[in-house]
Amino acid sequence: MARIGVKHDPDAEYAVAVDVGGTKTNAGIVSRSGEIVHTVSLPTQAGGVPVADRISEAVEAVLMEFAKVHGGIGLKGIGIGTAGQVDWAEGSIRYSSDLIPGYGGTPLKRLLQERFGLPVWVDNDVNVLALTEKTLGAGRGVRQMLCLALGTGVGGAVMIDGQLLHGAWGGAAELGHLSVDFNGLPCVCGSVGCLEQYASGTGIAKRMRAKLDTLGRPEPLMDTWTVIARWQTGDGLAAEVMDETFAALGAAAASLIHTFNPEVIVVGGGVADAGEPFLERIRLETAKRSIPSLYAGVRIVPAYRGNWSGMIGAGLQAWEYDPKQD
Ligand SMILES: [Zn+2]
Repeated sequence: MARIGVKHDPDAEYAVAVDVGGTKTNAGIVSRSGEIVHTVSLPTQAGGVPVADRISEAVEAVLMEFAKVHGGIGLKGIGIGTAGQVDWAEGSIRYSSDLIPGYGGTPLKRLLQERFGLPVWVDNDVNVLALTEKTLGAGRGVRQMLCLALGTGVGGAVMIDGQLLHGAWGGAAELGHLSVDFNGLPCVCGSVGCLEQYASGTGIAKRMRAKLDTLGRPEPLMDTWTVIARWQTGDGLAAEVMDETFAALGAAAASLIHTFNPEVIVVGGGVADAGEPFLERIRLETAKRSIPSLYAGVRIVPAYRGNWSGMIGAGLQAWEYDPKQD
C-alpha cells in the first residue's frame, strides 16, 4: 500500500516524527536520543486538502529523503504530536477548534498505519513536548513532572511515576482550564477564571487592551510582546496586567503542587521567553500559596529550547510506548 518501500523494524534507532500545528506541519526522522535527521515543513492547511493528506505528504517527503541516504534501514514507526484534543487509545482527533477546520474526527492512526504499514502513535502537542523534556530537557531523570505551555492558549502535561497522564480517553491535563478565580473572566471552554485567560499570550494582550480602553487610551493593536516589554521597563499599567498573570500562575501551580507533589514544573511556550525574571515571579507567587513542605522540593524551570522540540517529542513516542515492553 505504501508508495515508498519502508520496512518496519521494532529495534530501529529511528522513527518518523510529525508536529501538526495550526499553521505549519513539521516532519522529520528522529532518533531515540532525540537527534534529528531530515526535516520538511509544509503549511497544514492548503487548497482545501484534508489535513490527514498533508500529514501523509510530509511523511512521504521525509521517507524519500531518508531512503536516499539510509536505503534499506527500517524504522520503528510514526509518532504524531498534534494540535486539538486527541483520543489517545484510538489515535484519532476528538475535537479541533476552528484553528484547523474539518480536522475533528480524523482517524489519523488508522489512516497512516494503512498507508505506510508502520505502527503509529498520536498524542496532543503538549504531551509530546513533555517527552522532549524527559529525554533532552529538565525532565531527565525526573519521575514527577508538570509542564505548562504558555502560548496562544495554555496547554499542560502531567507525568506521574515517569508516565504521562492521559485520563479516560486522552483528555487529561488541560491545565490551561484550571480555574484560578470562580468569579473570574469567562473562558471559551464554558468555565470562568481559567488560567488561560490570565497567562496565555492572548489573555495578556486582551487584559491590557481592556485596561487601556477603560482609561480612554485605546491601543487596539496592543500585543503580548509589547505588554511584556513595557513590564520589563517598569510601566505601571503593564505591571498591573502581569501581576495578575503571575498571581494566576502561582495559584494554578500551587494547586497542582498540592495535587501531584511534583519534582519539577517546566514552563515553556512563547510567553515564557520573557525569561528568568518571569520565572522568578512565578516561583515567588507559587511559594506564597503552597504548603511549605510540598513547595520545598519543587524546581520551576524553563522548557527545553530548540527548534523542532515538538517534532522531537512526537518521534520519541515510538520508544516511550514501545509495544515490546508491554
Ligand atoms: Zn477555560
